[in-house]
Amino acid sequence: MKSKLVVLAGPSGVGKGTVVRELVRQKPQVFLSVSATTRKPRPEEKHDDHYVFLSDKEFKNEATNGNLLEYAEFAGAWYGTPRKPVEDRLNKNQVVILEIDLQGARQVKESMPDAFMIFLKPPSIDELKRRLIERGTEKPEELELRLKVATSEIEAENEFDAVVINEDVQSAVEQLIRLLNLT
Ligand code: 5GP
Repeated sequence: MKSKLVVLAGPSGVGKGTVVRELVRQKPQVFLSVSATTRKPRPEEKHDDHYVFLSDKEFKNEATNGNLLEYAEFAGAWYGTPRKPVEDRLNKNQVVILEIDLQGARQVKESMPDAFMIFLKPPSIDELKRRLIERGTEKPEELELRLKVATSEIEAENEFDAVVINEDVQSAVEQLIRLLNLT
């Protein structure tokens, strides 16, 4: 692996969140970046754990003050990676994972070309649709939008250093552990 900074991207609903959380549970030496977002929290989501939930104004301030490593608008909300926690951990030589969308992944690749880019892919679009519907966190129009974005995101897999198919959480985590040489 070229760098300690790892980007995990892939379409909404593919299970990025579940996979990285399981990875960090098994390998606590990995630091998972907590993103900022203007999206409203889902019932199970906790501030500072799943996301730092901000108002539009707060988010804009963070972005204009240069406090975000990357940021993008996704399905009607803003998402961004707080810069300082990531830089602090990288300075301590820790492996840092960013779980972000394709637009953010492209920005990181541009600004930090050594980042190791991993694309998490669903076994098929039909399976992705099934997972998004099963998750049940979006209204029908939001779900349609996410599926539309997902279809175009899947075409970007060749921009990445590695592709992992998320057939099931355990095997995806095992592949990540191998790719990242985690002991
Ligand atoms: P969700 O609303 O499902 O939590 O996230 C929507 C999308 O935003 C997902 O693809 C997720 O990976 C992405 N995302 C989460 N945090 C960030 C971030 O900090 N930056 C960017 N660019 N995308 C993010």
